Amino acid sequence: MVEIQSFAADFHIHSKYSAATSSQMDVATIAAQARLKGLDLVGTGDAFHPSWLRSLREELVEVAEGTFEHQRYRTRFILTAEVEDRNRVHHVIILPSFSAVESLREELAKHSQDIDGDGRAHVELGAEEIAELVVAHQGLIGPSHAFTPWTSVYKEFDSLRDCYGDRIDAVSFLELGLSADTDMADRIAELADLTFLSNSDAHSPWPDKLGREFNRLGLAEPTYEEVVKAIKRRDGRRVLLNVGFDPRLGKYHVTACSRCFKQFPMDVAVRLKWKCDDCFGWIKKGVLDRVNELADYPEPRHPPHRPGYLRIAPLAEVIGLATGEDPHSPGVKAEWEGLVTRFGDEISVLVDASPEQLSEATNPRIVEVIKAFRAGTLRVIPGGGGRYGHLEIGTEVAKKLPPKPQRKLTEFVA
Ligand SMILES: [Zn+2]
Ligand SMILES: [Zn+2]
Repeated sequence: MVEIQSFAADFHIHSKYSAATSSQMDVATIAAQARLKGLDLVGTGDAFHPSWLRSLREELVEVAEGTFEHQRYRTRFILTAEVEDRNRVHHVIILPSFSAVESLREELAKHSQDIDGDGRAHVELGAEEIAELVVAHQGLIGPSHAFTPWTSVYKEFDSLRDCYGDRIDAVSFLELGLSADTDMADRIAELADLTFLSNSDAHSPWPDKLGREFNRLGLAEPTYEEVVKAIKRRDGRRVLLNVGFDPRLGKYHVTACSRCFKQFPMDVAVRLKWKCDDCFGWIKKGVLDRVNELADYPEPRHPPHRPGYLRIAPLAEVIGLATGEDPHSPGVKAEWEGLVTRFGDEISVLVDASPEQLSEATNPRIVEVIKAFRAGTLRVIPGGGGRYGHLEIGTEVAKKLPPKPQRKLTEFVA
């Protein structure tokens, strides 16, 4: 009997070669940050980009079939990419080997103008044809951020079958995206048999991005072969838990203007013909309203195989809320590193550590805000139109908070 253990995996990121990404999305930085974040396995993203592929070959060592390791940080990688199809629908692809990547890349390049230029290539093929090619290369495919209003399967189609046609059987997972969770997606009957993935789609390596959503997988070991089994739910391997944003924190949760971010109820957006009445920008349909349109059930009906969904927020944001600092400031970064180093990873701090343990490690205000986060008493200001939602302390919680700590120069000198 093999022993199944839990491993944290984030399959969808972008390298510095994708549009609008951080120049620090290089292999070593991702490997180092993944370690701090508590990720065991990371999808390489952008595997079809020639320069990124060269970096992966140079900097990673193959430790098992389709499984690569960064020797310094011991972070493991599997080969993944995202492509945009003819209908501007995005798909996540997972592949077994460099040779499969190269061969599939050659096929896709016949239909792509930018596969050498952009890590997330646009391919002039339909989803059905792309799925066909992926299957021929022994890969896995599923829709990315399935409900978002610009580039997802459900912005374009009312069902997966309409998108993938006769290759619907090739689809083995669906990525929920930051603005949706399992409760929302399981209101749609056709998704019952699919494995849901919660991935970060990170464009920068910092802890509020990389691994901001991830999957806990039950595997015998962190390898490509085991990951495939988990996604297909075979031999006792499976996704144990989806860990992701409170969907209200996603940037497309509610219907809102994509220019000024004013939020609208659906009927008002329809009446305005999707033009903002303040700034005349386009109103984008929120994931919540889109799911309501597609839903077969008023309440979620989770199939027996469906794992739980743990709602989280980036710890750096929670710390910043407590200290009144920007989540990217040196003060927050120092607190974040202190806590993560002490408790092992971000989730342990945010979810598992007892208040007593936290009190020994950090200041009382941060402890109180983490407790409020766990209790669900922080205010959530929902995102929409492309702007992320955010947390606020709210008056009730504020009354109970100890005063903000004064940062003294001596703290840093000592
Ligand atoms: Zn995408
Ligand atoms: Zn507007």
